[in-house]
Amino acid sequence: MKRHFRLIILGGGAGGISTASSILSKKKDLKNEVLIIEPSEYHFFQPGWPLVGSGEMKPESTKKPTEKVIPKGARWMKAFVDSVDPVKREVTAGGTTVSYDFMVVAMGLELDFDSIKGAKAALGKNGVTTNYLYNLTGYTYESLKNTMTGNIVVSRPRSKIKGGVSAENSIFTMDDYIKKHDREANIVFRSGRAEIFEVKKYSDSLKEQLEAKNIDYKLNEELVEVRGEEKEAVFKNHETGERHTVPFEMLVITPPMHGPAALNGSGLLDDGGWVDVDKHTMMHNTYTTVFSLGDAASLPTVKMGAAVREQYKILVDNLIERMEDKDPSHIYEGKTACPVATEYGELILAEFGYDNIPKETTFLDQSDDKKLFYQFKKNMLPFMYWYGLLNGKA
Ligand SMILES: Cc1cc2nc3c(=O)[nH]c(=O)nc-3n(C[C@H](O)[C@H](O)[C@H](O)COP(=O)(O)OP(=O)(O)OC[C@H]3O[C@@H](n4cnc5c(N)ncnc54)[C@H](O)[C@@H]3O)c2cc1C
Repeated sequence: MKRHFRLIILGGGAGGISTASSILSKKKDLKNEVLIIEPSEYHFFQPGWPLVGSGEMKPESTKKPTEKVIPKGARWMKAFVDSVDPVKREVTAGGTTVSYDFMVVAMGLELDFDSIKGAKAALGKNGVTTNYLYNLTGYTYESLKNTMTGNIVVSRPRSKIKGGVSAENSIFTMDDYIKKHDREANIVFRSGRAEIFEVKKYSDSLKEQLEAKNIDYKLNEELVEVRGEEKEAVFKNHETGERHTVPFEMLVITPPMHGPAALNGSGLLDDGGWVDVDKHTMMHNTYTTVFSLGDAASLPTVKMGAAVREQYKILVDNLIERMEDKDPSHIYEGKTACPVATEYGELILAEFGYDNIPKETTFLDQSDDKKLFYQFKKNMLPFMYWYGLLNGKA
């Protein structure tokens, strides 16, 4: 295999593949000069996982072999990136070192189940589940169907997460499910965050929903321990330090998350562990041959595929300018979108930028739950993802 590439992309997820497709269609001379380093045999449509958890989608429909999404003209190295030296412009993956002129970091983020005592061992039995691992999304729905009484506890950490509102999605659809099936169960939501949502308009709307549906919710409560056999979840209050034990029949965990650990010590990460890029150009703040987008990047917006959809086009235009020895001139203003299903068939669609001011695409009031948005997420979004975004065309 070649040992030097004009462009190396770390990670073949939503950000890596859309970037590769887009730049290859704009710069024909990059044919066979783009290397994607991605360890996974399969590419996943992760926004579909909460829908699998609520029984609205089949797990298999959220995955495709990676080789099917690698764009023509790009090479794929099936390996984990072990280390990067941005001074020498070298990447070591699976024991091989390759060099680059330019690099895009799109390695996503890492789930940190280890920081919750007992969580890893508890997952997949006694009703303990998560929608953040493909293999457990089906178990979420199975557990929901089997829960007749007791607490269905949903947790969300204080850390930055991907799929910003996926816990809230679970709360509302599960609440709808138990009501429709006359179950005696209660939905309990515990979030480590100090607020429900960053944008007031949507926060107010979500609070109204939580209250109208009588959902027991508390903020500043971080899941710190899971006792699977005893069916107990332990939360620690961020303000008082007090611990509270909540019994459960089912527990849906959104784990804490952090940036790509393989880049620790490379000089590419900021103090928070995210790839340190300019929030407008997405160029690295120290290394001008490096760009980053998506979940791995330090961009201060909610980490979503919808944000990647805005970012990759701007990143590609800026990267092409850098390849032509110009300064990057295209600006990303933080636009992202968070769909929250408020019951089966209804959805709020929050859209906003860095200023946290709603920037809605439609003429409808998107904080009011709408059937149209739900159908869009369930039926149109997968299609847009596989055939639009990944082809650099959405
Ligand atoms: C449960 C859930 C619900 C979600 N809901 C929504 C939603 O409704 N709407 C929405 O827009 N977004 C949603 N998202 C978020 C969305 O999926 C991500 O924000 C998006 O995939 C980010 O793209 P990315 O390329 O940065 O990361 P990813 O798509 O995660 O890709 C990162 C890639 O890097 C690879 N990688 C990891 N480590 C290494 C390594 N060491 N070397 C090389 N490669 C590596 C991974 O295998 C992966 O393929 C959801 C996510 C989840 C999990």
